Amino acid sequence: MQYAKCGGVRYQVRLEPLGVPCSECRQEEAVVHLRYARKRLCAACFSDFFVRRVQRTVERYRMFGPRDRVAVAVSGGKDSVALLHALRRAFPEQDLVAIYLNLGIAYYSDHLEQKVRDLARQLEVPLVVYNLAQEEGYRIDDFLATRYRNKMCSVCGAIKRQLFSKLAREQGATVVATGHNLDDTVGTMLSAFFAGDFESIQRLKPVLPPLIPGQARKVKPLIHTPEIEDLYYVLLNRLPVQECSCPHGLGSSVHRYKDLLDQMEQQNPNVKHQLLAVFLKKFVPLLEQQQPREAEPLSVQPCVRCGEPTSSPDGLCAKCRRVDLLKHARPPSLPLEIEPEDLLDGTLPQPYLLLDVRAEADGHPLPDAVAFPAEPFLQDPRRRARALKRWKRSHLLVVVCDTGRTSYAVAVKLRNLGFRAVNLKGGLQALEKARRLRDLAQRLPKPS
Ligand code: SF4
Ligand code: ZN
Repeated sequence: MQYAKCGGVRYQVRLEPLGVPCSECRQEEAVVHLRYARKRLCAACFSDFFVRRVQRTVERYRMFGPRDRVAVAVSGGKDSVALLHALRRAFPEQDLVAIYLNLGIAYYSDHLEQKVRDLARQLEVPLVVYNLAQEEGYRIDDFLATRYRNKMCSVCGAIKRQLFSKLAREQGATVVATGHNLDDTVGTMLSAFFAGDFESIQRLKPVLPPLIPGQARKVKPLIHTPEIEDLYYVLLNRLPVQECSCPHGLGSSVHRYKDLLDQMEQQNPNVKHQLLAVFLKKFVPLLEQQQPREAEPLSVQPCVRCGEPTSSPDGLCAKCRRVDLLKHARPPSLPLEIEPEDLLDGTLPQPYLLLDVRAEADGHPLPDAVAFPAEPFLQDPRRRARALKRWKRSHLLVVVCDTGRTSYAVAVKLRNLGFRAVNLKGGLQALEKARRLRDLAQRLPKPS
């Protein structure tokens, strides 16, 4: 079983019987080994353990009570899918509403929307879908034409935060629950710590109170849950979940710290839990004590345009400021995607080079194409792109895969590195379809 997540990190997991009985029920065979808890659990006992921890976390930090309406931000990734399912199980009577943002990311957002719709239907949780292109007239992909082209997650994060807050308010929710897990929290904590960004560290707390009246408080019921266990939970409960990566995800510094923590975990299975405990019990209180002496508390007010909180002197929130950039963005002279007909008609600018990014292309690329497998490139684009340097100035690179999905991510990253690259829309499947239609049209008798 292979699973891809937001941010471009790939997991490969296989849940198989461990050959020992479950530490809890002693009847079923264990399939999950939790080293830090010294438990080997069967599927049912693991799910119970997972749900109980979510329930305890909610109660321990008083995240919400029976009267609260809880908006759950569901992206279709393993964390938020596990969160919604576990909350429904832990609090069957709670008033829940799921919110999905369709951000208009090609080959990604529509796929996730379908997964979230399936999950909400299965759980009978009301779902609000907000389509950015339909509601606001732009997509996250449009920011590729701005100075955020290399920092798409930053712009996407600002837009998502604002929209979840706004939609939760519109839905009458008093609480917004997000799927931030233990690894996200300690990874971000280390990354922010080394950057000296203590403000971000304080935002990692399990509960963030409203910044302005009427805003929902933000809660993280998975803050004590290791990331891999979200995946186990989703797989063992056969929940609908994303099967492809976001084309804009790239190894950020947070990912590097998460990798480091994974390595430390080999020596000390408890290291992530220990770091979180020190962080919550010692470090955050220390920061909060220090703050009034060092700096004036930030004055938060509603954004002059959208009404969501901001502390910026110009009165605009992070989202509104970024959306303003789109007004001045010029559409790229070279479109990001070409139609299959452009290849069939030979109307592409010459010379061009076909880049075959399918995994199986290695050694056996398409005729007249260069094999350039996507996986290693997406892990380390700058270094891998050196292999294409000789064509950088002279050729247009036409990136192809079977569906157009992987090649889209490759084309985006090549363009960010200064290459003239385009994606074949819909991939080889669309090309084959267009070719067949054309053959058929030629064989049909001409109207007299
Ligand atoms: Fe996630 Fe970044 Fe893609 Fe937004 S742009 S969905 S934050 S990987
Ligand atoms: Zn705003």
